[in-house]
Amino acid sequence: MPRIVINGAAHQVGEGALLLDVLDDCGIIVPHVCHDRRLQPNGACRLCLVEVKAQPGPVPSCATRVEDGMDVRTDTPALEALRRANLSLLAARYPDEAVLKEPWRPLHRLLNGHGIRGGNRPPARAHHEDTHPYIGVAMDRCILCYRCVRICEELQGQFVWEIAGRGEHSHVAPIGGRTMLEAGCVSCGACVDTCPTGALFDKRSPVHAAGGTRTTCPYCAVGCQVDVAASGGRVIAVRPADHPTNKGHLCVKGRYAFEFQHAGDRVTAPLIRRDGIWQEVSWEDALGHVAARFDTIRSAAGADRIGILASSRATNEECYLAQKFARVVLGTHNVDCCARVCHTPSAKALKTMLGTGAATNGFDDIELARAFLLWGANPTENHPVLGARIKQAVMHGAKLVVVDPRRTELCRYADIHLAILPGTDVLLCNAMAATLIEEERIDHAFLAERVSGFDEFHRFVLDCLPERVAPACGVRAEAIRQAARIYADAIPAMCFHGLGVTEHMQGTEGVMALTNLALLTGNLGKSGSGVNPLRGQNNVQGAALMGCEPNSLTGSQPIRLAREKFEAAWNCTLPASHGLNLLEMMDSARHGDLKALWVHGYDIYQSLANEAATREALDHLELVVVQDLFLTETAQAFATVFLPAASSFEKDGTFTNSDRRIQRVRAVVPPPGQALPDWQIIQRLAGQMGHATGFAFDSPEAIWNEVRELWPGGAGLSYERLDKECLHWPCPDLSHPGTPYLHASSFTNGKTAELARIGFAASPETCTKDYPFILTTGRSLYQFNVGTMTGRTQNQRLHDADTLDMCAADAERLHLRSGDRVRIESRYGATTLRLRVTEAPREGILFTTFHQPALFVNMVTSAVRDRQTDTPEYKQVAVRIG
Ligand code: SF4
Repeated sequence: MPRIVINGAAHQVGEGALLLDVLDDCGIIVPHVCHDRRLQPNGACRLCLVEVKAQPGPVPSCATRVEDGMDVRTDTPALEALRRANLSLLAARYPDEAVLKEPWRPLHRLLNGHGIRGGNRPPARAHHEDTHPYIGVAMDRCILCYRCVRICEELQGQFVWEIAGRGEHSHVAPIGGRTMLEAGCVSCGACVDTCPTGALFDKRSPVHAAGGTRTTCPYCAVGCQVDVAASGGRVIAVRPADHPTNKGHLCVKGRYAFEFQHAGDRVTAPLIRRDGIWQEVSWEDALGHVAARFDTIRSAAGADRIGILASSRATNEECYLAQKFARVVLGTHNVDCCARVCHTPSAKALKTMLGTGAATNGFDDIELARAFLLWGANPTENHPVLGARIKQAVMHGAKLVVVDPRRTELCRYADIHLAILPGTDVLLCNAMAATLIEEERIDHAFLAERVSGFDEFHRFVLDCLPERVAPACGVRAEAIRQAARIYADAIPAMCFHGLGVTEHMQGTEGVMALTNLALLTGNLGKSGSGVNPLRGQNNVQGAALMGCEPNSLTGSQPIRLAREKFEAAWNCTLPASHGLNLLEMMDSARHGDLKALWVHGYDIYQSLANEAATREALDHLELVVVQDLFLTETAQAFATVFLPAASSFEKDGTFTNSDRRIQRVRAVVPPPGQALPDWQIIQRLAGQMGHATGFAFDSPEAIWNEVRELWPGGAGLSYERLDKECLHWPCPDLSHPGTPYLHASSFTNGKTAELARIGFAASPETCTKDYPFILTTGRSLYQFNVGTMTGRTQNQRLHDADTLDMCAADAERLHLRSGDRVRIESRYGATTLRLRVTEAPREGILFTTFHQPALFVNMVTSAVRDRQTDTPEYKQVAVRIG
């Protein structure tokens, strides 16, 4: 490590660090306005000048890297004079009233600190607009530091801003003379965050809202770390934390979509519906009512007539308690969560083949990968901070293969895009595998040491050469070969996959077929490689991991292996019967067997595929208890008891993100009214039902410590460590550093993993004369799932309705235009959507999102399920235009 001298004192500093960052870390204040640690050095403002011995003149510390033996002075009178002169130049055109009004802005602090007044000479040109719901523009404050231009390009990769005009008329404006949104702004707010003057500002937080409570974003499973500011019991601003998970970046949901928290229709007292009317009741009455009904049903028909659906928005601690309640208090394994409808196929496939049902590698490997295989995932919309990182890596030279029926944003950057026909993933994987073997692009050493079943697999896959299966996949044979070559040749290559793989009849098998590709090319057990499912909700990985699935206990420990340990710890006899998963619970309810359902933070009626079947199931139940922030569609249509829950801004605990990090959740504001954190609601109901002792926790940390005792892979993850370190499980003891990538020297199952021979099976949802289109579904950048949270924010202005996306050729043939209202019908139901003609979907494929309750896209989706896990086939339903 280099040693340098600063103002006469010796310091040991980081290799290759920028001098300005080193000065900042040492607490030596040097003024600057164009520098941001997230950006490449720029050296434009000339305020951070320092003297370095043996240099002929002052150097900009923001653009100078430290070298061993450097002797630096930051505080000479000559430097002060230079900085003052440069600051005065900046101030000459700057509005003084802005300095007086908002003294906390970085530039204003500098001007005040140096006693320099703004010059009030307005710039010759300044861009003005008031079109964005969150971002205000006051470019008469622009000092041309270009931080907004640079951060949009270097962090988000969006290129919204440009320097327009010349000389005296140079000014920053959205590219091409358009508005921000027209110029492609994705509303990440990075430009606002970096602007040192308030030329770009957050419209809702005119007050200084820096700092705040460090917690985890309430949306997707990237798990961005945020600093949340509050005032008067309300969240007022969210800013990105400088943290390894998100590196000082956020997306529009994490940064801006927090007003749901204080929405007028938030339910803040327990409710019971009597004679069709919701009535406020006390917690004692509500929980007494639920306890009595559970007891009655259990006595009459048995514990297996009751089910619990835990929430993937609840903390690990709360999910742990939910499944403990099911097993210990009710006496049933009927417990599941929304992982069932998204990535249970990934967990099942990875566990079967490699021994651990989770992402193999961490996000920090993105910058180490030389190629990406992005399959059935659209991360720039659904995991935007991760998507931006992949985009940056590709812009810096990594290769990219995209497999998706739609032309998603990242296709613009891809070396090859395979616009696969929905549901043919297994076939395409096999064709790539056949190419790898035929063209000798396999890793022989890895295969010899770590893989079994190669000869059998080779014989099996010979039937699937690209020239043979390409027509069924809807892509060119040569394109399949090119994709295989990129993946095999640019080692290490990282595979990310999404619901485009898993939400199919062959969902689990699709992930197994993908894993074959990683095994054949040696892309496992090292940095920058792996098979990595992109999880949807912030704690969906954690909910399943904590045991909210019928066939495994906390830590994904199979019941048959871990029964005795848990019985001893919980002082109970675990039920002998098999539990039902979410879809089996729906089937059981429809047959009149399941009688009661307790649903935590999950709008199942709107979310589940095949609305008619879901409605029939929920209609048959004698008791539906909903625990949530709002009267969801499920609550309004079917519940008789509503328990008001706290949001993640109102409680403590942990979430598990998509790359296996356990991260802290911290209360920022108190819950409104009588709302309670889920863990306290579960705890109280357990007490009502005679199980106070096993649920007598005084804090989420106490619950977590019980989890750590039962789950060997989490034993080392104490709150004390989580408060200081960024740790991936497995982490078996307090001195273990965590496991950023799995399977380094052996697989969890053993030394070798076996290649899986997966035959292709076509979904019954294929095109016919009566149903000539395939509809596939997904999410948009601005909304989250069924819109329970984002639908109550200004994001609604940015994405106000689900549309039906159709390519121009199909639209022309049907004489349809953008904006037409179009009815789509499947064998299961119908809905009407506004048409959007776009080149994203290929001919014969339609696409829609499913965020709007009123449009209810799940009226149309089918009853087909993954053959191994029951995950619904959201990605493929045959439809016609009505
Ligand atoms: Fe939140 Fe995901 Fe956006 Fe990060 S990428 S801010 S975790 S929604």
